[in-house]
Amino acid sequence: MNIYYAPPSQINNGFAELLDQEAKHISKVMRAREGDRLTIVDGQGGRYQGSILMITNDAVQVKIDKSENVPPSDPRLVLGMGIIKKRDRLEFAVEKAIELGVSEIGLFRSERTIKKNVRMDRLESIAVSAMKQSLQVWLPTITMYHTLDDFLASYTQAEWLVAHEKVEKQDHSFTDTDSDTVLLLVGPEGGFSPSEIDKLTDGGATTVSLGENRLRTETAVTAFLSQFLIQ
Ligand code: SAM
Repeated sequence: MNIYYAPPSQINNGFAELLDQEAKHISKVMRAREGDRLTIVDGQGGRYQGSILMITNDAVQVKIDKSENVPPSDPRLVLGMGIIKKRDRLEFAVEKAIELGVSEIGLFRSERTIKKNVRMDRLESIAVSAMKQSLQVWLPTITMYHTLDDFLASYTQAEWLVAHEKVEKQDHSFTDTDSDTVLLLVGPEGGFSPSEIDKLTDGGATTVSLGENRLRTETAVTAFLSQFLIQ
């Protein structure tokens, strides 16, 4: 099933307008025709179905005849990840995190991050594709934070879980939480420094083992999130 994305600003009075890449995909790749039916999500919990009224090169207009609101996930999973050096690995981690149901992603510089900046435009288009691919209706936000502290300051009310390769395997499932927001922290290639781990645990964080193997950051992201999916 093909899903198309139109932000709320492009959905008005029972009509949706699909622009740019979405319009090109419908007209050029799918060779859709007027009257064909489409499913559209707005990234804010809205899912719509309707028929194509008009197709031009850079816009497709759809008459909506069915709409529903999907509530956000509970708990809200927030991924906090130290920026990693290799762009394709970082983009892989973001794509997989979204497919696995994360609601927000915070990228931060920490003591051991090497790379300082990321291509946010690429990550945002990866986010839209991953949302559609995984048949989701909420578009996760991706935010770049100057430091780990800045990131943590945005989530003081959340439950903090830190993946740390230097801790014993826990005997309880860390997915049993009654917090409405859970922060999953994963370090960059160099991991978190001892002082960062101290700061996190002093701040109330629980350190979590993902097993004996030392995982790459992007693998740890996938392993960590999938634990919540299978609970
Ligand atoms: N530099 C660290 C080292 O040499 O031991 C490895 C860091 S690892 C590549 C990157 C991040 O993945 C870590 O900061 C941690 O968050 C996570 N991670 C990797 N393996 C893990 C494991 N077995 N248990 C928990 N977290 C793990």
